[in-house]
Amino acid sequence: VEAREDYVRRNPESRARFMAAAESMPGGNTRTSLFYDPFPLCMLRGEGCRLTDADGHEYLDFLGEFTAGIFGHSPEVLKQAIRSALDDGINLSSHNAIEGKLAERICARFPSMDLLRFTNSGTEANLMALAAALTFTGRRKILVFAGGYHGGVLTFPPGGAPVTVPHDFVVASYNDLERTLDLVKPHRGELAAILVEPMQGAGGCIPGTPEFLAGLRRLADETGAVLIFDEIQTSRLSLGGRQQLLGITPDMTTIGKFFGGGLAFGSFGGRREIMQVFDPRRPSSIGHAGTYNNNTLTMTAGLAAVEQLLTAEALDGLNARGDRFRADLNALFAAKAVPITVSGLGSLMNIHPQGAPRVANAKRSLLFFDLVKAGVYFAPRGLIALSFPIGGQEISAFLNALDRILDARRSLL
Ligand code: PLP
Repeated sequence: VEAREDYVRRNPESRARFMAAAESMPGGNTRTSLFYDPFPLCMLRGEGCRLTDADGHEYLDFLGEFTAGIFGHSPEVLKQAIRSALDDGINLSSHNAIEGKLAERICARFPSMDLLRFTNSGTEANLMALAAALTFTGRRKILVFAGGYHGGVLTFPPGGAPVTVPHDFVVASYNDLERTLDLVKPHRGELAAILVEPMQGAGGCIPGTPEFLAGLRRLADETGAVLIFDEIQTSRLSLGGRQQLLGITPDMTTIGKFFGGGLAFGSFGGRREIMQVFDPRRPSSIGHAGTYNNNTLTMTAGLAAVEQLLTAEALDGLNARGDRFRADLNALFAAKAVPITVSGLGSLMNIHPQGAPRVANAKRSLLFFDLVKAGVYFAPRGLIALSFPIGGQEISAFLNALDRILDARRSLL
């Protein structure tokens, strides 16, 4: 309570702007994940891995736009690419010279994508991948997992009611192959798709076990269902995503976020015979329109990002920093005997206080308010996503702030 009150006192401008926004947006909000009680900070500027809010506080940005902001804020390569696209005219009412190049570069990274298409968000990419699978198989049922997040309308909270489009979902337990196989036994001939994150992201950075994901590959092979890996977060774990690290090739892959160079983006692709359902030269093709699917700003920024920023060296370095940071965080919590663990892979991680949900949430909030006060910003739900500009100095600053907080708050955590 005291940390929350202090937060309110320190952030009058953020509060005022939130209250003003609430006059014309429900709860002052247009992205559900950005809201937390009592109100979110209003950010005004970002540079590299630093943010400035409306009250003039500076933060180290350990949230990285919920994993989309892998580049940090406005690196020169992306600014130049976007400027050049602006100079050539925003969108050209036709096919353009860049979309094919970006598609080619992405297909080269993901052997599971013989062909791909672009969308404006990861949500749309997943919806279109499902449309492809339903059309290709002529079946209706879709296997998904509790705790899965595939976009605002494809959310499967553990034990909660899914907010979802009207698909015929079968919701199984993540990382529990045996129960999943039991659950789908009566539906094996009806399964159109298996949609899964190789690591559950919004579900708390819970890696899928190699055995579980390989088991889903076998299930798809046996039943004829289309296996879709949602790599919208995990595509940062190597050049070819987590599927490359695991040596498992899905039938379809969805990506998004940073592959659009910081602009609105999504893409879905897969085996040639599946993706050909969208080939307009074929008499029985299905439509997938979208005014901004090939918008020149995103295509140009995405191409610059893929060619110049999302290199194997940059990704490997970032993920190695993440692995060390997560190990240091876990070691710090253990050394202070505070029952908190940090899960994740590479540069993606989530802080998990132990205890019943209400207690764990209160502890998570306390950590959040204290770290924010110390100038470290991450997601109140515990998500940390590193970006390229975060180096040893920023990581030390986080660890030092946390060390002091754990000493001060140990009895509450
Ligand atoms: N799938 C996963 C795994 C995600 O993390 C997200 C976004 O956080 C999405 C899908 C949805 O992407 P978008 O927010 O671009 O619609």
